[in-house]
Amino acid sequence: MVTETRRILLVEDEKTICDAVAAYLEREGFWVTPVPDGEAALYAFALHQFDMVVLDLMLPKVPGEQVCREIRDKSDVPIIMLTAKGELDDRISGLELGADDYLVKPFSPRELIARVKALLRRTHASETPQRDRLVFGDLELDITAHRATLAGVNLDLTASEFKLLTTLARYPGRVYSRMELVEKVLGYDFEGYERTVDSHVKNLRAKLGDDPKHPRFIYTVHGVGYRFEPQTTPNLTLQPGSGAVDKAAEK
Ligand code: CA
Repeated sequence: MVTETRRILLVEDEKTICDAVAAYLEREGFWVTPVPDGEAALYAFALHQFDMVVLDLMLPKVPGEQVCREIRDKSDVPIIMLTAKGELDDRISGLELGADDYLVKPFSPRELIARVKALLRRTHASETPQRDRLVFGDLELDITAHRATLAGVNLDLTASEFKLLTTLARYPGRVYSRMELVEKVLGYDFEGYERTVDSHVKNLRAKLGDDPKHPRFIYTVHGVGYRFEPQTTPNLTLQPGSGAVDKAAEK
Protein backbone atom coordinates (compact mmCIF):
# COMPACT_ATOMS: atom_id res chain seq x y z
CA MET A 1 0.00 0.00 0.00
CA VAL A 2 1.30 3.42 -0.94
CA THR A 3 1.12 5.92 1.89
CA GLU A 4 0.45 9.44 0.78
CA THR A 5 2.64 12.13 2.22
CA ARG A 6 0.32 14.82 3.50
CA ARG A 7 1.51 18.33 2.83
CA ILE A 8 0.94 21.05 5.35
CA LEU A 9 1.35 24.76 4.82
CA LEU A 10 2.46 26.17 8.16
CA VAL A 11 2.01 29.92 8.50
CA GLU A 12 3.58 31.27 11.66
CA ASP A 13 5.74 34.35 12.19
CA GLU A 14 7.11 33.38 15.60
CA LYS A 15 10.16 31.41 14.62
CA THR A 16 10.43 29.31 17.78
CA ILE A 17 6.80 28.17 17.50
CA CYS A 18 7.17 27.62 13.77
CA ASP A 19 10.32 25.51 14.18
CA ALA A 20 8.86 23.45 17.01
CA VAL A 21 5.57 22.76 15.23
CA ALA A 22 7.34 21.97 11.94
CA ALA A 23 9.68 19.54 13.71
CA TYR A 24 6.77 17.72 15.36
CA LEU A 25 4.78 17.50 12.14
CA GLU A 26 7.80 16.27 10.19
CA ARG A 27 8.47 13.63 12.81
CA GLU A 28 4.91 12.42 12.22
CA GLY A 29 5.69 12.04 8.53
CA PHE A 30 4.05 15.19 7.21
CA TRP A 31 5.69 17.32 4.58
CA VAL A 32 5.82 20.85 5.99
CA THR A 33 6.22 24.10 4.10
CA PRO A 34 6.82 26.80 6.72
CA VAL A 35 6.21 30.44 5.77
CA PRO A 36 6.62 33.51 8.01
CA ASP A 37 3.85 35.84 6.81
CA GLY A 38 0.47 36.05 5.09
CA GLU A 39 1.81 37.16 1.75
CA ALA A 40 4.19 34.19 1.52
CA ALA A 41 1.31 31.94 2.57
CA LEU A 42 -0.91 33.05 -0.33
CA TYR A 43 2.01 32.77 -2.73
CA ALA A 44 2.82 29.24 -1.61
CA PHE A 45 -0.84 28.26 -1.69
CA ALA A 46 -1.19 29.50 -5.27
CA LEU A 47 1.79 27.44 -6.37
CA HIS A 48 1.19 24.16 -4.58
CA GLN A 49 -1.45 21.79 -3.44
CA PHE A 50 -1.67 21.32 0.30
CA ASP A 51 -3.66 18.85 2.33
CA MET A 52 -3.95 21.24 5.23
CA VAL A 53 -3.13 24.78 6.32
CA VAL A 54 -2.06 25.59 9.87
CA LEU A 55 -2.56 29.31 10.06
CA ASP A 56 -1.57 31.81 12.72
CA LEU A 57 -4.09 34.64 13.12
CA MET A 58 -1.75 37.58 13.80
CA LEU A 59 0.65 37.74 10.87
CA PRO A 60 2.82 40.34 9.16
CA LYS A 61 1.94 41.66 5.68
CA VAL A 62 -1.43 39.94 5.24
CA PRO A 63 -3.39 39.09 8.42
CA GLY A 64 -4.51 35.53 9.09
CA GLU A 65 -8.23 36.35 8.69
CA GLN A 66 -7.64 37.57 5.16
CA VAL A 67 -5.38 34.63 4.29
CA CYS A 68 -8.11 32.32 5.58
CA ARG A 69 -10.83 34.00 3.54
CA GLU A 70 -8.74 34.11 0.35
CA ILE A 71 -7.82 30.45 0.65
CA ARG A 72 -11.42 29.54 1.46
CA ASP A 73 -12.64 31.42 -1.63
CA LYS A 74 -10.88 28.99 -3.89
CA SER A 75 -10.34 25.83 -1.86
CA ASP A 76 -11.88 23.45 0.65
CA VAL A 77 -8.50 22.62 2.16
CA PRO A 78 -8.81 22.03 5.91
CA ILE A 79 -7.55 24.98 7.95
CA ILE A 80 -6.54 25.02 11.60
CA MET A 81 -6.27 28.52 13.00
CA LEU A 82 -3.77 29.38 15.73
CA THR A 83 -4.77 32.26 17.96
CA ALA A 84 -3.38 33.84 21.06
CA LYS A 85 -5.71 34.16 24.02
CA GLY A 86 -7.92 37.20 23.58
CA GLU A 87 -7.33 37.61 19.85
CA LEU A 88 -10.69 36.10 19.06
CA ASP A 89 -13.74 36.39 21.26
CA ASP A 90 -14.77 32.80 21.11
CA ARG A 91 -14.63 29.62 19.14
CA ILE A 92 -17.50 30.68 16.92
CA SER A 93 -15.77 33.74 15.51
CA GLY A 94 -12.69 31.65 14.75
CA LEU A 95 -14.73 29.21 12.79
CA GLU A 96 -16.74 31.97 11.12
CA LEU A 97 -13.58 32.98 9.31
CA GLY A 98 -13.76 29.69 7.48
CA ALA A 99 -11.35 27.67 9.59
CA ASP A 100 -12.24 24.06 10.40
CA ASP A 101 -10.69 24.05 13.83
CA TYR A 102 -8.66 26.31 16.04
CA LEU A 103 -6.15 26.16 18.85
CA VAL A 104 -5.46 28.80 21.46
CA LYS A 105 -1.81 29.54 22.28
CA PRO A 106 0.01 28.29 24.20
CA PHE A 107 -0.77 24.79 22.98
CA SER A 108 1.31 21.67 23.09
CA PRO A 109 2.61 20.45 19.74
CA ARG A 110 1.17 17.07 20.68
CA GLU A 111 -2.29 18.59 20.86
CA LEU A 112 -1.83 20.19 17.46
CA ILE A 113 -0.75 16.87 15.95
CA ALA A 114 -3.87 15.22 17.36
CA ARG A 115 -6.08 17.93 15.84
CA VAL A 116 -4.28 17.75 12.50
CA LYS A 117 -4.74 14.00 12.30
CA ALA A 118 -8.37 14.13 13.37
CA LEU A 119 -9.15 16.81 10.82
CA LEU A 120 -7.38 14.94 8.03
CA ARG A 121 -9.32 11.80 8.89
CA ARG A 122 -12.54 13.77 8.76
CA THR A 123 -11.87 15.55 5.50
CA HIS A 124 -10.15 12.80 3.55
CA ALA A 125 -12.20 9.86 4.67
CA SER A 126 -14.34 9.83 1.55
CA GLU A 127 -11.74 11.00 -0.94
CA THR A 128 -9.77 8.91 -3.33
CA PRO A 129 -6.13 9.78 -2.83
CA GLN A 130 -4.50 11.97 -5.43
CA ARG A 131 -1.09 11.29 -6.80
CA ASP A 132 1.41 13.57 -5.24
CA ARG A 133 3.05 15.29 -8.15
CA LEU A 134 4.76 18.57 -8.96
CA VAL A 135 4.96 19.70 -12.56
CA PHE A 136 7.08 22.58 -13.83
CA GLY A 137 6.95 22.71 -17.61
CA ASP A 138 8.69 19.57 -18.80
CA LEU A 139 10.09 18.74 -15.35
CA GLU A 140 7.86 16.36 -13.45
CA LEU A 141 8.39 15.18 -9.89
CA ASP A 142 6.27 12.23 -8.85
CA ILE A 143 6.66 12.23 -5.09
CA THR A 144 4.60 9.08 -4.63
CA ALA A 145 6.67 7.07 -7.07
CA HIS A 146 9.96 8.78 -6.11
CA ARG A 147 10.58 9.55 -9.75
CA ALA A 148 11.76 12.66 -11.59
CA THR A 149 11.41 13.04 -15.32
CA LEU A 150 12.53 15.78 -17.68
CA ALA A 151 10.70 15.84 -21.03
CA GLY A 152 9.47 12.33 -20.24
CA VAL A 153 12.95 10.93 -19.61
CA ASN A 154 13.61 9.42 -16.18
CA LEU A 155 16.43 11.38 -14.49
CA ASP A 156 17.43 8.37 -12.42
CA LEU A 157 18.11 10.41 -9.27
CA THR A 158 19.53 8.96 -6.08
CA ALA A 159 17.37 9.16 -2.96
CA SER A 160 19.34 12.20 -1.70
CA GLU A 161 19.19 13.99 -5.04
CA PHE A 162 15.46 13.37 -5.24
CA LYS A 163 14.91 14.66 -1.72
CA LEU A 164 17.07 17.69 -2.45
CA LEU A 165 15.22 18.54 -5.66
CA THR A 166 11.76 18.07 -4.17
CA THR A 167 12.72 20.07 -1.08
CA LEU A 168 13.75 23.00 -3.28
CA ALA A 169 10.86 22.59 -5.73
CA ARG A 170 8.16 22.49 -3.05
CA TYR A 171 8.68 26.16 -2.54
CA PRO A 172 10.01 27.88 -5.65
CA GLY A 173 11.82 31.12 -4.98
CA ARG A 174 12.58 30.32 -1.35
CA VAL A 175 16.27 30.42 -0.57
CA TYR A 176 17.57 27.44 1.38
CA SER A 177 20.90 27.73 3.17
CA ARG A 178 23.26 24.80 2.81
CA MET A 179 22.75 24.13 6.51
CA GLU A 180 18.98 23.85 6.09
CA LEU A 181 19.45 21.53 3.15
CA VAL A 182 21.83 19.36 5.13
CA GLU A 183 19.22 19.04 7.87
CA LYS A 184 16.26 18.50 5.54
CA VAL A 185 17.91 16.25 2.99
CA LEU A 186 20.67 14.45 4.81
CA GLY A 187 19.32 14.66 8.32
CA TYR A 188 22.47 15.62 10.17
CA ASP A 189 23.93 18.91 11.21
CA PHE A 190 27.69 19.09 11.06
CA GLU A 191 29.18 21.99 9.15
CA GLY A 192 31.49 19.79 7.14
CA TYR A 193 28.52 18.18 5.50
CA GLU A 194 27.49 21.40 3.77
CA ARG A 195 29.96 20.46 1.04
CA THR A 196 27.96 17.28 0.58
CA VAL A 197 24.98 19.41 -0.40
CA ASP A 198 27.16 21.15 -2.99
CA SER A 199 28.12 17.86 -4.56
CA HIS A 200 24.52 16.63 -4.56
CA VAL A 201 23.52 19.88 -6.28
CA LYS A 202 26.32 19.41 -8.79
CA ASN A 203 25.12 15.90 -9.64
CA LEU A 204 21.52 17.05 -9.77
CA ARG A 205 22.41 19.85 -12.19
CA ALA A 206 24.27 17.41 -14.41
CA LYS A 207 21.23 15.14 -14.57
CA LEU A 208 18.85 18.06 -15.17
CA GLY A 209 21.19 19.51 -17.80
CA ASP A 210 21.09 22.69 -15.72
CA ASP A 211 23.93 25.14 -16.36
CA PRO A 212 24.89 26.90 -13.07
CA LYS A 213 25.81 30.05 -15.03
CA HIS A 214 22.42 30.15 -16.81
CA PRO A 215 20.15 28.00 -14.65
CA ARG A 216 16.75 26.79 -15.72
CA PHE A 217 15.95 25.35 -12.31
CA ILE A 218 18.49 25.63 -9.50
CA TYR A 219 20.13 28.93 -8.62
CA THR A 220 23.15 29.38 -6.39
CA VAL A 221 22.63 32.10 -3.82
CA HIS A 222 26.18 33.15 -3.09
CA GLY A 223 27.26 32.89 0.50
CA VAL A 224 23.93 31.31 1.44
CA GLY A 225 22.73 28.29 -0.47
CA TYR A 226 20.31 27.47 -3.23
CA ARG A 227 16.84 28.18 -4.54
CA PHE A 228 14.61 26.53 -7.12
CA GLU A 229 13.15 28.90 -9.69
CA PRO A 230 11.82 27.11 -12.77
CA GLN A 231 12.06 29.20 -15.92
CA THR A 232 8.68 27.95 -17.02
CA THR A 233 5.15 28.74 -15.96
CA PRO A 234 4.29 26.60 -12.95
CA ASN A 235 1.83 23.98 -14.07
CA LEU A 236 0.21 22.34 -11.12
CA THR A 237 -2.54 20.46 -12.87
CA LEU A 238 -2.40 16.74 -12.45
CA GLN A 239 -2.67 15.94 -16.14
CA PRO A 240 0.17 13.75 -17.35
CA GLY A 241 2.12 15.23 -20.21
CA SER A 242 0.37 18.59 -20.04
CA GLY A 243 3.53 20.53 -19.27
CA ALA A 244 4.08 22.36 -22.51
CA VAL A 245 7.37 24.21 -22.19
CA ASP A 246 7.16 27.91 -22.58
CA LYS A 247 10.62 29.15 -23.33
CA ALA A 248 9.48 32.72 -23.70
CA ALA A 249 10.58 33.50 -20.16
CA GLU A 250 14.12 32.35 -20.84
CA LYS A 251 16.77 34.67 -22.08
CA1 CA B 1 1.70 35.72 15.12
